[in-house]
Amino acid sequence: ALSEHPNQLGTKRRNGRIMGRRDFACESASIYSTSQSDGEGVCRGISAGELCIISEESVAPYERPALSKGYLLPEAPARLPSFHTCVGSREERLTPKWYKEHGIELVLGTRVKSADLKRKTLFTATGETISYKILIIATGARALKLEEFGVSGSDAENVCYLRDITDANKLVSAMQSCVGGNAVVIGGGYVGMECAASLVMNKIDVTMVFPEEHCMPRLFTPEIANYYEDYYEAKGVKFIKGTALTSFDVNADGKVTGVNLRDGARIPADMVVVGIGIRPNTSLFEGQLSLEKGGIKVNGQMQTSHGSVYAVGDVAAFPVKLFGETRRLEHVDSARRSARHAVASIMEPEKTGDFDYLPFFYSRVFTLSWQFYGDNAGEVVPFGDYSGKSFGAYWVNNGHLVGSFLEGGTKEEYEALAKATRLNPSIENLAELERQGLNFVLEI
Ligand code: NDP
Repeated sequence: ALSEHPNQLGTKRRNGRIMGRRDFACESASIYSTSQSDGEGVCRGISAGELCIISEESVAPYERPALSKGYLLPEAPARLPSFHTCVGSREERLTPKWYKEHGIELVLGTRVKSADLKRKTLFTATGETISYKILIIATGARALKLEEFGVSGSDAENVCYLRDITDANKLVSAMQSCVGGNAVVIGGGYVGMECAASLVMNKIDVTMVFPEEHCMPRLFTPEIANYYEDYYEAKGVKFIKGTALTSFDVNADGKVTGVNLRDGARIPADMVVVGIGIRPNTSLFEGQLSLEKGGIKVNGQMQTSHGSVYAVGDVAAFPVKLFGETRRLEHVDSARRSARHAVASIMEPEKTGDFDYLPFFYSRVFTLSWQFYGDNAGEVVPFGDYSGKSFGAYWVNNGHLVGSFLEGGTKEEYEALAKATRLNPSIENLAELERQGLNFVLEI
């Protein structure tokens, strides 16, 4: 048994083994990884009463990617319980009933306000004390607020962020009262791009504003970005690049009616969506755990600087073997797999080696869909038809293939891309790689 004492549910002192927290409006990572680890724990022999999950959200963990996609559809939108974890990884759907049947205590609507790792104790905002033998931190991240960039007005009812289901409900309600109107999307990252597509599908005119030269600047090459921007423009989306929001115009009802930009322009707005990045939720553990890359530093077992504490998902900075360096990856796939690895390390330490992860990112917008594997470092080798439906790019660093991107691929093509990128093959001739294009990975 992993608990220190028998479960004492309903008392002021609870004993749980694994803690996942989703407060501060945190991310995909925390939720998926938390749930993934529950499923893993049960499969690996956790007994009833040994596992407890604490979350500030009032619903059981769900698949966060649905919030910027299926949840925002104008017709037949995804709604709980259809996207509780782990439906996204094609495993059993973990509804509240599932947790109950497996003896896992879900402590929802509960915020952990402080943690004493030496005493292996958590203190909740509702006055409970929770002791544990092993703790998994899956706190994810919070959305950055415009206030952190000197702009006030984020709390207006028609200004929306997107991190959790409460945010998504606010966004859905704003969209419903804005059909035929104008939306301004601030930020050209994942949230900005996916929400802009959803707004268009909801018959709302969209203007995207971001400071960079093109969308998805952390991953896309200018050529890749150009393809998606052209596609969005054909759907009526306007791009205002290289500038930032400086203030909102607000009416007597407290609603935003327009946004003012650094270059002096004013854009009328019936609603605003903001996606300007995230910050990992580490504050509970600062001063108690080693931090790196803005997250909680872990080893290849997902173990923090405190032996009985593990971290997974967006909040964890872990060694990426393939790159030989520590990274913090903001993505659901990394969350799921790091959670699975943490549980394997806890349950079967002698059989579990170091986490060996191939970074993976994807997005789906309109009828488009892309996947990326590895690292976008080094020289870019584009391939395919950038005016057609399928194209991609390789990244070659120090004479080796390190990263690959493909739009419009088949399942087999994406699998080949992942496999080849992991193999890290040496590349002597970039022109030849470009000529071979997708065939290069299909023939490996
Ligand atoms: P991203 O980091 O993807 O993008 C934020 C963008 O906003 C960046 O390009 C950033 O630029 C820019 N930005 C920063 N500050 C400002 C500002 N003041 N005004 C305008 N733009 C600004 O974050 P998102 O918020 O889009 O997404 C949040 C998280 O959600 C991500 O971690 C992502 O992994 C996750 N997510 C993933 C999805 C997927 O995988 N398909 C879908 C939806 C969300 P710069 O980089 O220069 O700071």
